[in-house]
Amino acid sequence: MQRSAITVRGVVQGVGFRPFVFSLASRFQLRGFVRNHAGEVRIEVEGSPESIQRFLGELREAPPPLARITDLQCHQIPIRNEIEFRIESSEENRSAPVFVSPDIAPCDACLQELFDRENRRYLHPFLNCTNCGPRLTIIESVPYDRERTTMGRFPMCPKCQAEYDDPLDRRFHAQPIACPECGPRLIALTPKGETIATDDPLNFFVVQILQGKIGVLKGVGGFHFVCDARNEQSVRELRRRKHRNEKPFAIMVADVNLARVFCHVTAEESELLTSQRRPIVLLTTRNRSAGTEFPIAESVAPNNPELGVMLPCSPLHSLLMAMVGNVPLVMTSGNRSDEPIAYQDENVIEQLGTLADVILTHDRPIHVRCDDSVTRVILGDELPIRRSRGYAPEPISLPWGCPRPILAVGGQLKNVFALGNGRHAFLSHHIGDLDHYSAYLEFERDVKLYEDLFGVVPELIVHDLHPDYSSTGFAIQRAANDGIESLGVQHHHAHLASLMAEHNLDEPLIGVLFDGSGMGTDDAIWGGEFFVGDYGGFTRKNHFRYVRLPGGDHAVREPWRMGVAHGRDAGCDVSFPGISQQQTGLVKQMIEQGFNSPYTSSVGRLFDAVSALVGVRTHVSYEGQAAMELQWLATECDDPRLYPFDVSKPIDTRPLIQAVADDVKRCVPTPIIARRFHSTLVKIIVTVCQQIRSATGVNAVGLSGGVFLNSILTCETTLQLQAEEFRIYRHRLVPPSDGGLCLGQLAIAVHRLKNR
Ligand code: ZN
Ligand code: ZN
Ligand code: FE
Repeated sequence: MQRSAITVRGVVQGVGFRPFVFSLASRFQLRGFVRNHAGEVRIEVEGSPESIQRFLGELREAPPPLARITDLQCHQIPIRNEIEFRIESSEENRSAPVFVSPDIAPCDACLQELFDRENRRYLHPFLNCTNCGPRLTIIESVPYDRERTTMGRFPMCPKCQAEYDDPLDRRFHAQPIACPECGPRLIALTPKGETIATDDPLNFFVVQILQGKIGVLKGVGGFHFVCDARNEQSVRELRRRKHRNEKPFAIMVADVNLARVFCHVTAEESELLTSQRRPIVLLTTRNRSAGTEFPIAESVAPNNPELGVMLPCSPLHSLLMAMVGNVPLVMTSGNRSDEPIAYQDENVIEQLGTLADVILTHDRPIHVRCDDSVTRVILGDELPIRRSRGYAPEPISLPWGCPRPILAVGGQLKNVFALGNGRHAFLSHHIGDLDHYSAYLEFERDVKLYEDLFGVVPELIVHDLHPDYSSTGFAIQRAANDGIESLGVQHHHAHLASLMAEHNLDEPLIGVLFDGSGMGTDDAIWGGEFFVGDYGGFTRKNHFRYVRLPGGDHAVREPWRMGVAHGRDAGCDVSFPGISQQQTGLVKQMIEQGFNSPYTSSVGRLFDAVSALVGVRTHVSYEGQAAMELQWLATECDDPRLYPFDVSKPIDTRPLIQAVADDVKRCVPTPIIARRFHSTLVKIIVTVCQQIRSATGVNAVGLSGGVFLNSILTCETTLQLQAEEFRIYRHRLVPPSDGGLCLGQLAIAVHRLKNR
């Protein structure tokens, strides 16, 4: 006989941990207790040493689905000869931080109940349990319990209360517990916000959608537009109403089998689709001309060989998809063009009312806006594109513990911030583009919310070097107000460090860091960088040749300006459809005078230039559009030829641009040019990495920066570098884009503090 005291840390509260421990202890005939204590779980068990060992094994190997154990300690204590195992109502320390789980799609047990006529929660769109349901999106303040969530306004009925109080029930302490008796209710609204009198708002909504109408649906973390994805007219009308938005729409389908009708789905992709995180997964579409059984309207993702697909992410969505059966639905952010997604009931009519034919909402408010996560698989590994619903705020482990609590504010576009405490990095949900004032206000509010949620009071604030980023301004102001230290980190150094941190590396790496833009240390805009570096610092081993960025942000929205800049640099005569001689003349003048035209080495902008030169895009409606379209074209073609290139220092882009311009003049088909451009970039990367390896002996290469969302580039670069026996690191936990920046900022700051 022996008695052990066990302490478990991590995401262990509010996830059904205590009932799980109770049944586990019963199974191994152990006596003792389990209780929550200040954000951790304390267990004492006594029984035979073998039983305790097996108990510990299962605890480690197979905890409840939402739990994440980050630390488990165990030591022997004197026997107390107890006769039973009990769940102790803990002397809960109210001020202690509790890890909050992400929002999680319905578990199997809940789904079973949802469609069980005999169950009291039959067809209840808000059922959940300790293993599933809304979490982050409903939290208003801490500590995490029902009164401080948006479920606080729904008093539990006696039946729910009994389940909530029963340690053996699978809804024990499930804060959002609900049933038809006491839970939220669906409401159908007209575009003007008048309630539609109907017994079955969901059915009313479904009938409208199947008739080709455009609906707005309240999702987990915000409102979505919904329409029949087979109906070209509806989809086109939705695009018109969303204002020239050309971004591909994602679709929702009932299950994986239906996804397979439209797309190729590998084992890894299927795993992501069905995971309880329920991200949008980018899949390769089946040949569209082959006449499939459920054709998707062309306007869903025009010219795009890929399609974003997700499965139902809440019980409401499960019911919706069960009702529409085999029909795929467009499910896209409820916003106008690029604004943040709408999520507040009081604003939805004003923001989206005029764009919808019917609105399906309910009376459980969303407190924290949380966009859908987007991800994909490259060479068998996940490559996150947007880490948000279902992922945030789950912590990522840092290579070392933070000597002091740290706030890293991230970048400007695709903002995500992070808090560092102990060995945990708590990355926020996707906040979005801080250019939008409403997104910036939420950034401020949610920084505060996360600090409260995780009990972190930052003593150091890390930011980007770019003085015009709203996040930088916030960091400097906040540091001054609070009288704490701030630290500026170079943009691409942060990209490199984020990759190192997620792989737990502590050795110098060749960083291939390609993105749209990031402030360099020489006041130029960097974005085509080869570093050798680690957390402590970096050397810029090579970079792409500087050209002008005529008009700054204007050049980002109008790729033809980059076409002029690169064309002029390479001595080519260039012209663009729909752009007058006078316009190009003006841009040339700006370049000559250096007026509002900083130098840039950006590969993102090089993609823009090529895209404009070949006539794919002169203007874009979202960042990265021109590069994406060039990638889609290249997918169609497998021409093996390369363009000439020159990898001196800096890497000379002029031979490449001249060759592209020549091909354009000779009317070479665009897909061939796009293909050759991609292959040439891959070859440049491999050649420069070989040069750097020869000079430094560093054999590990990391690919980071938004350009590596390009699947052709990432995939082929990886394969070719592997063939040259490099060790390759790619992002698997955070996006390569600026959405992952905060993790790198954090890691660099920890390293700095640690080595003081
Ligand atoms: Zn459940
Ligand atoms: Zn109830
Ligand atoms: Fe970047």
